[in-house]
Amino acid sequence: MNDRGLIVIGSGPAGVAAAAAFREYCDDVPVRMLTADVDRPYFRPPLSKEFLRGETEDVSRDGAEWCADHGVELLTGTRVDAIEVEQRVVVAAGARYPYTELILACGASPTPPPVPGGDLAHILRSQRDAIQLRDAARRADSAVVIGAGFIGCEAAASLAMQGLSVTLVAPDEFPQQKRLGAETGQRLAALVEKSGTRFVGDTRVQEITGDSVVLDDGVSVHADLIVAATGVAPNSAIAETGGLEVKHSRIVVDAGMQTFWHGVFAAGDVALGVNTTARRPIAIEHWQDATDQGAVAGRRAAGADAAWSQVPGFWTTIGDETLKYHAWGDGYDRSRLVDHGSGCTVWYEADEAVVGVLTHNADDDYDLGERLIRDRKPAPVPMQ
Ligand SMILES: Cc1cc2nc3c(=O)[nH]c(=O)nc-3n(C[C@H](O)[C@H](O)[C@H](O)COP(=O)(O)OP(=O)(O)OC[C@H]3O[C@@H](n4cnc5c(N)ncnc54)[C@H](O)[C@@H]3O)c2cc1C
Repeated sequence: MNDRGLIVIGSGPAGVAAAAAFREYCDDVPVRMLTADVDRPYFRPPLSKEFLRGETEDVSRDGAEWCADHGVELLTGTRVDAIEVEQRVVVAAGARYPYTELILACGASPTPPPVPGGDLAHILRSQRDAIQLRDAARRADSAVVIGAGFIGCEAAASLAMQGLSVTLVAPDEFPQQKRLGAETGQRLAALVEKSGTRFVGDTRVQEITGDSVVLDDGVSVHADLIVAATGVAPNSAIAETGGLEVKHSRIVVDAGMQTFWHGVFAAGDVALGVNTTARRPIAIEHWQDATDQGAVAGRRAAGADAAWSQVPGFWTTIGDETLKYHAWGDGYDRSRLVDHGSGCTVWYEADEAVVGVLTHNADDDYDLGERLIRDRKPAPVPMQ
């Protein structure tokens, strides 16, 4: 046995998939997973949904024995402080861990709102964050959620479904208007409001105090609970100081998730990887795509061939309603919303080809959209 072996930094979906894929090809090489998280690997998506609503307590993944079964040594509560790629060493809390191959799957961390008192708001990324938020929600009657991305919309709806009086504030007139268009934003606002949440758009937060949020029109909204869902920043600092190429705060990798440094890979929210179908680098923050990229990195680290080729996709559940979205996520020229009565499909095109599809109760279109994006075909409806 080589006492170096593979080191995976991070125990999210990219890290877990990387370790699992590596093990498919190499069963006699040590694998260590170093993670800052104090918990064993778990599913993040339920944290803003069923877990926050108290409908499930168990978000752990793969069973407690997975690491032992796969011969993966898991070191929780172990934050990596530095990587030394020339020496092939990872440094954490003064200890030095040598490696042969390294996979950085260290994800992203929430960015609090850059306003006075911004750090007073709850954030939501880890299971510990979710436990704190859920416990605080049980003692609260009212909440303000800042930021109407998918996590903000989901958390607001979950809190409202728990009986809290919830206000969701966002700078766009409608949730995610800049990213998905006004019509889609209106649909999102309707779903959020259906859960009982009050949506206040076109509004910026100026200050957070212990029990209120001051808006840019001077109005102060009282809240027992304040949640910031104001975006994330990739955890790329150790890569940058370690000499790897970082662009837009993400670690630059090829379609095999390999950095320019041989034997060093990156995958998931921290990576900027080339997608072979898109034929360009794609920045993505979804569970399944982190899993896909992690699997590619793990196979490559084991010496097998693999490339990231999947069309990105994810589901979001706001209250009782699920939306599904496939897209490259780097812009579109025009969009068309088709209403189906009980839901809708939004087609996004660039250069006469579908680059995104968002569906609500329209699974066939979700599947069709994936194929059209992959094949660079136009939408099946006239675009406005
Ligand atoms: C509440 C919530 C709900 C979500 N819901 C959905 C959803 O419904 N659908 C969807 O597609 N996506 C969803 N996402 C997004 C999805 O969870 C992320 O895209 C995905 O987790 C990214 O995976 P990752 O492995 O790249 O990073 P992460 O899951 O962020 O994992 C990174 C890991 O690295 C560790 N780490 C970071 N820095 C260090 C360091 N220096 N040393 C050691 N370890 C380190 C962290 O502790 C963590 O274990 C949700 C996210 C959240 C927070």
